[in-house]
Amino acid sequence: MPGKVETLADGRGIPVVIPEEDHTFVLDEDALSALLLREDVRDRAVVVLSVAGAFRKGKSFLLDFFLRYMHHKYILGESGEGWLGADDEPLKGFSWRGGSERDTTGLLLWSQPFKATLANGEKVVIFLMDTQGTFDSESTVRDNAIVFALSTMLSSVLIYNLSQNIEEDDLQHLQLFTDYGSLAQEKSVGKPFQRLQFLIRDWSVPYEYPYGAQGGLKLLHKRLEVHEGQHKELQTLRQHIQACFEELACFLMPHPGLNVATSPEFNGKLADIRDEFKTSLRQLVPMLLAPENLVPKLIGGQKVKAKDLMQYFRVYMNIFNGSELPTPKTILEATAEANNLSAVAEARDVYDFIMDEVCGGAKPYLDPRRLEDEHRRAKDKALHAFHSKKKMGGGELADSYRERLEKEIQEQYQQLQAHNEGKNIFRMAGTPAVLVALVIL
Ligand code: GDP
Ligand code: MG
Repeated sequence: MPGKVETLADGRGIPVVIPEEDHTFVLDEDALSALLLREDVRDRAVVVLSVAGAFRKGKSFLLDFFLRYMHHKYILGESGEGWLGADDEPLKGFSWRGGSERDTTGLLLWSQPFKATLANGEKVVIFLMDTQGTFDSESTVRDNAIVFALSTMLSSVLIYNLSQNIEEDDLQHLQLFTDYGSLAQEKSVGKPFQRLQFLIRDWSVPYEYPYGAQGGLKLLHKRLEVHEGQHKELQTLRQHIQACFEELACFLMPHPGLNVATSPEFNGKLADIRDEFKTSLRQLVPMLLAPENLVPKLIGGQKVKAKDLMQYFRVYMNIFNGSELPTPKTILEATAEANNLSAVAEARDVYDFIMDEVCGGAKPYLDPRRLEDEHRRAKDKALHAFHSKKKMGGGELADSYRERLEKEIQEQYQQLQAHNEGKNIFRMAGTPAVLVALVIL
């Protein structure tokens, strides 16, 4: 009998980065590893789409339409426009609401990873990430900067959700990443970030720039224009934004109608949403999430797998949790560290996999010389895997992680040796208990 098809109601937003009373954040490692290290997910390259920006600007609301699309396309495997849902269906998913209080806090990942295959046949997994409102009055500036930074560093598609327009401030919030990005580019090829998607809500002058992607791109070009007379810093920021992202895009979204914006009874049903808004959703969502438009996360020019993402969450949490915001240099060092750590983990997987075939729990006792040969072979393969991964941070850093890998492998080998000896009934045959066992057999 086929398994029950998962529905959206089976999923939920899982808080993975959680704010504490004292304005620090904790990483829920258990929740995160349950999601990222799942057997069917851990070795897939990730696409991480996150929505960031001020609170109460419809981020979670929008993500819930993304979820409808994801479910329709990647779980039910359907095509067509039916994904937008029935007219009277309440909108569920990441929690969104009216009123002025904040609902979502920290970073949340949707509990259902969506599996997809790219046009080139590569299998990926897509994670949707919701963020706490940034730059609102209630949280400190630092809290907001942390949430924004984490979502920028961890995503391959950053949706920068803005109300009504792109202001100078909105661009300035990108400064830390463009400084990091410029530094990263001195040492390695390729742009440090993938897609930055500005999303302007309640766009009110469609006669100047029309709704949608083309109008958005025109507006964005205008905002990113560098001209004489502009302050040097503003010029540099603009140049860096263009240099640091593989792809810059902007989409102008119409107002969803007064029901959505103001009615306390509104439950998200399509019937209450203006047609213009729904038309825009039909354009925007596949532009971001159709298989041909998916953008895998790259760090240091390498695809990031779900299991690697775990390392990046950890190191970034460490540096962003200090009393001061990290400098671009610290972010670069942390990225290089996680990058090397995931190369070590990958190489360890290679060693462990081979050795498990050779002398795993259910395998019989092996002549120690055979075991040593197999160990050498597995170690060579593991080192090869380590070396063949392009790493950030230079040769010296990589050397120190190679040493660490060799040490870990040596320790593991000693354990395997001891375990193997435990299976040696001839050596143990002198002891009465084993003799009895042999007689019974
Ligand atoms: P978040 O804090 O950014 O996640 O905002 P929510 O998704 O929780 O939405 C906050 C409020 O904005 C809700 O009452 C939504 O109905 C409303 N809303 C959603 N999308 C839009 C939009 O595009 N424009 C306006 N004006 N309101 C919206
Ligand atoms: Mg929200």
